[in-house]
Amino acid sequence: MLLEFIDLVVSVEGNTILNGINLKVSGGETHAIMGPNGTGKSTLASICMGHPKYKVESGDILLDGQSILDKSVDERSRLGIFLAMQNPIEVPGVTNFDFIKSALQTRMEKGNHLRVGKFILEYERVASELKMGKGLAHRFLNQGFSGGEKKRNEILQMKMLKPKFAFLDEIDSGLDVDALKLVGEQVTKQKSKDLGLVLITHYQRLLDYIEPDFVHIMIQGQIVKTGSKELIAKIDQDGYDWVKAELGIVD
Ligand code: ADP
Ligand code: MG
Ligand code: MG
Repeated sequence: MLLEFIDLVVSVEGNTILNGINLKVSGGETHAIMGPNGTGKSTLASICMGHPKYKVESGDILLDGQSILDKSVDERSRLGIFLAMQNPIEVPGVTNFDFIKSALQTRMEKGNHLRVGKFILEYERVASELKMGKGLAHRFLNQGFSGGEKKRNEILQMKMLKPKFAFLDEIDSGLDVDALKLVGEQVTKQKSKDLGLVLITHYQRLLDYIEPDFVHIMIQGQIVKTGSKELIAKIDQDGYDWVKAELGIVD
């Protein structure tokens, strides 16, 4: 299991946002990506998922050696790529429950059917692990959900869909301390050799609960430094100016 970004250059509306990203994520690994606002972290996650707003100018994204650039969002999802969005979208008319049910159904071999009873039990078990209110299942997807409910719901989707590679984009924003601990523990519980995790965050807090194997610093659309979790404490304390100074990056 390997997801590779190779010299990836990405633009949005004519502006280059990612300036040659190189990153390899294997099954079982947890990578944290940190960096100032506007540096391209969400763009990296979105382009991997196939968001149509972003354009690949050059480079490639390979899943187990095969380019996924020509695949739709749906196809990438079925191949096992998952994105918990920084700002989850509201989908009126589709209940939360039906959304996950149909996502799972489309993953099944032709002719096989989702066992609804088993699905309901699993859904209820995961929702209760995440301490989500019972009513959420039958409300329209993310509509009127609080910030924290949206974030928990993204993790609920991850736990139900069991992706091979998951990007969690600022899953910590909008969560209070208790919710953050809960979500962090639930994500950690999901860790296995069959899951490659990419955590995008500004803060050390999240990484206290989900321990990364690698920490990357992204500045101006490039990964400029990679290290271990010792980097996190330094960033928390000193920000990014020292990295810029070290590398001679000018704003
Ligand atoms: P981060 O997640 O690191 O805060 P983003 O990936 O969200 O950064 O954004 C990277 C850059 O891309 C920002 O400078 C942002 O203004 C720019 N950007 C995002 N969307 C658009 C858009 N639709 N048009 C032009 N620029 C955009
Ligand atoms: Mg941001
Ligand atoms: Mg972002």
